[in-house]
Amino acid sequence: MKEKRAVVVGAGLGGLSSAAYLSKNGFKVDLFDRNPHPGGYACSFVRDGYEFEAALHALSGIGPEDNRGSCYRILEGCDVARRVEFVPIEDLYTSVFPDFKATIPKGWEAAEEAYGENFPAERKGLHRLMEFMRKMYEEMKLISSDPGALDLLLFPVKGSHLIRSTGLTVSQAMDREISDPRLKALFCDLWGYYGLPPSRLSFQLFAMANSSYIEHGSYHVKGTSQALSNAFVDAIEENGGTVHLRSGIEKINVDSGRVTGVVTEHGDEFPADYVVSNANPIHACYDLIGAENVPNSYLKALAEGHIAVSTFNVYMGLDCTAEDLGVPSHYEIFYNEDYDTDGQYRRMFEIKKQKYWALTNYSVLHPELSPPGTSIMVITGLVDYGAWARVPPDRYVETKNRLAAEMIEAAEEVVPGIGDHISVVEVATPLTNMRYSGNPGGSILGFDYDVTGSSMFRLPNRGPLEGLYFANAWVRLGGGFETCMTSGFLAFMDVMKDVKGVKGIKKLLPSL
Ligand SMILES: Cc1cc2nc3c(=O)[nH]c(=O)nc-3n(C[C@H](O)[C@H](O)[C@H](O)COP(=O)(O)OP(=O)(O)OC[C@H]3O[C@@H](n4cnc5c(N)ncnc54)[C@H](O)[C@@H]3O)c2cc1C
Repeated sequence: MKEKRAVVVGAGLGGLSSAAYLSKNGFKVDLFDRNPHPGGYACSFVRDGYEFEAALHALSGIGPEDNRGSCYRILEGCDVARRVEFVPIEDLYTSVFPDFKATIPKGWEAAEEAYGENFPAERKGLHRLMEFMRKMYEEMKLISSDPGALDLLLFPVKGSHLIRSTGLTVSQAMDREISDPRLKALFCDLWGYYGLPPSRLSFQLFAMANSSYIEHGSYHVKGTSQALSNAFVDAIEENGGTVHLRSGIEKINVDSGRVTGVVTEHGDEFPADYVVSNANPIHACYDLIGAENVPNSYLKALAEGHIAVSTFNVYMGLDCTAEDLGVPSHYEIFYNEDYDTDGQYRRMFEIKKQKYWALTNYSVLHPELSPPGTSIMVITGLVDYGAWARVPPDRYVETKNRLAAEMIEAAEEVVPGIGDHISVVEVATPLTNMRYSGNPGGSILGFDYDVTGSSMFRLPNRGPLEGLYFANAWVRLGGGFETCMTSGFLAFMDVMKDVKGVKGIKKLLPSL
């Protein structure tokens, strides 16, 4: 293949993975990001000797050596996996409710046992629900592994669980098999990872993501997700690509319906045969390309998507260990003020103490991120951008500090004394997310994962102009670490199809 030039706009996970695959497969790659660090949300920051993970709680699709998941194989295929040490997280999560708590381990049987422990009357329905999910996951693996013609012909039979789950919300799927609201709340307590309450969340999306966690376990990255992003940069550079940081793209050039290159904020022009935008499609179409160059049908599709929630984080560097405070050695604990998940979601639209939030004890996994005898814990609540957009600029700092104090007070109720041991604190709001990612509303997942926005129905990776592709949370396969890295791979595959007519994934990536 004659050397083709590819530009990737944005060094978030989708951009990094597409750049890694393109550079490995003979493209001359230039990757640009306006931040001084690679990774978009996948990064860390240091304050007074404490290194804080900015985003990652739990990475899906890695798995142990004898049962690798699809994310590991994506990373292996672009020479990144061998540069990263994955740290297994012992349990998937711990849920605390007003009158009981439970810890959910990985593994189908163990998880089912833990869900059912306090609900003996619901065991049969719970088993059917989990079996349904497990079968959906098996069927998804079949269709994503380059199925043969016979597999496709038989899909109505072999994929019957996936087909039957189309259009279902998580609540609808649960209502069919279990009835105790306390069990339902426990079963779907990871809904915060997917940004919508069970009454609106796509069951397909929930089942795929949760099955991946249950089957392969959840992982973190030694050195934080910044180490993962840095490993991508190393792989890209080793394959001859160039990573330009502090270099925002101001324009994507278009000629007769085809992209021809980009212009940086410094005024430098980079011609390209292919442009992959990790920058969100709203910014790319309106600010970089110009709406007049984009088909109306595409702009309409963008306008129809509903932007998903953002986050409110209180990053705490403590002057003592978690054990000193009597915190159980669980990594990720979800606190639920009640069982009303719709009410918990509604609270996210107000700048008030949240009713559903997580306390993540990073020092359980990474004691080396802070000085000996100290620890790092992070409070995360999901919040909507709308209320934050209405805060006058001169009240912003006061408002974020007030909410941080309220969330620390909430943490005090479960970890008494924690507030007295904070030696470093940093607070991030939806505006912080916006600043570092450029994502509208500081969305962490692109568009919402409701039944129309689940992976299957998302916008494709192929963009609306010739030579333009998207790789990020906003398009297929949606938001999250694994999905965005896969999005980069899928965008790369589309480029390859256009360059070489490559059809099957297996032709390029034998390990999938
Ligand atoms: C607090 C928090 C916790 C999270 N926890 C988890 C978790 O536990 N598990 C999980 O799977 N996911 C989690 N996520 C979600 C996950 O981090 C995101 O979905 C994912 O990282 C988004 O990746 P992306 O490829 O869309 O790029 P983004 O991270 O959105 O990055 C886009 C990049 O494009 C760059 N860019 C934009 N415009 C331009 C331009 N004009 N020129 C140059 N560069 C540009 C930006 O600077 C940015 O670096 C979390 C997110 C947050 C914020």
